[in-house]
Amino acid sequence: MQFQRTPAVCLHKVDFSETSQVLRFFTPESGKISCIAKGSKRKKSAFLAPFELLSLYDLIRIEKRPGTLDILTKAERVRSFTRLRADWPRYVAACYVAEFVDEFAPEGQPVDGLYEQLVHALERLEAGVPAPDTVFSFESQALAALGYLPRLRECGVCRKATVRPDLYFSVRDGGALDPECRPKEERWFPVRRASLESIARFAAGDMPKETMKRPLTAEIRQIFDACVRFHLERELKSAKYLRETITC
Ligand SMILES: [Zn+2]
Repeated sequence: MQFQRTPAVCLHKVDFSETSQVLRFFTPESGKISCIAKGSKRKKSAFLAPFELLSLYDLIRIEKRPGTLDILTKAERVRSFTRLRADWPRYVAACYVAEFVDEFAPEGQPVDGLYEQLVHALERLEAGVPAPDTVFSFESQALAALGYLPRLRECGVCRKATVRPDLYFSVRDGGALDPECRPKEERWFPVRRASLESIARFAAGDMPKETMKRPLTAEIRQIFDACVRFHLERELKSAKYLRETITC
């Protein structure tokens, strides 16, 4: 039996029985892991309290074969991010970030930088950094870590640097497109070069100095939604709530 100790963010939880929970966590070394916490809902358990989404834990688990649940033996909640839970837009943003990691990350494999990006996004939301800035920064860097960041400053077809203020966007064609380079994909839409430039800056780690205006946040949201839909072939459950809260 091998005991493993790891920091971990809770991404998903389901009740397994009257007293137990099945949980998915994201960890720095093992990526996404699935565990069972036997008795975690009992009043007196080794876990002190039932597990909650988005909280950061220090876990001790017994690692099982791939495809079976690890067994949690001990857990201590390190941070529960209480301030972001009290604010609907920030809570929605945090749920979106967690769902993004849960859906994109492969089971049992680390993704370079993704754990740090997840924790950083939760810390920013907790500290009151605006939700759009936090989510866009997270998404651009997470897509880059996963190898899915679209072309933002060059045309996906001719590969030349984009110069026009009005462009097209098509994930399947590589991202940004000059108006004269016809997209092959049907699901293209017009975008402003300024929106793609903002995403490129987020990906490089920059944060906006002023509040982003609604047309910009709406267009950046449309670009990221297109990327997620293309790679997952569906939308994240929290995407609808995120659009409502960060573009209104
Ligand atoms: Zn082109």
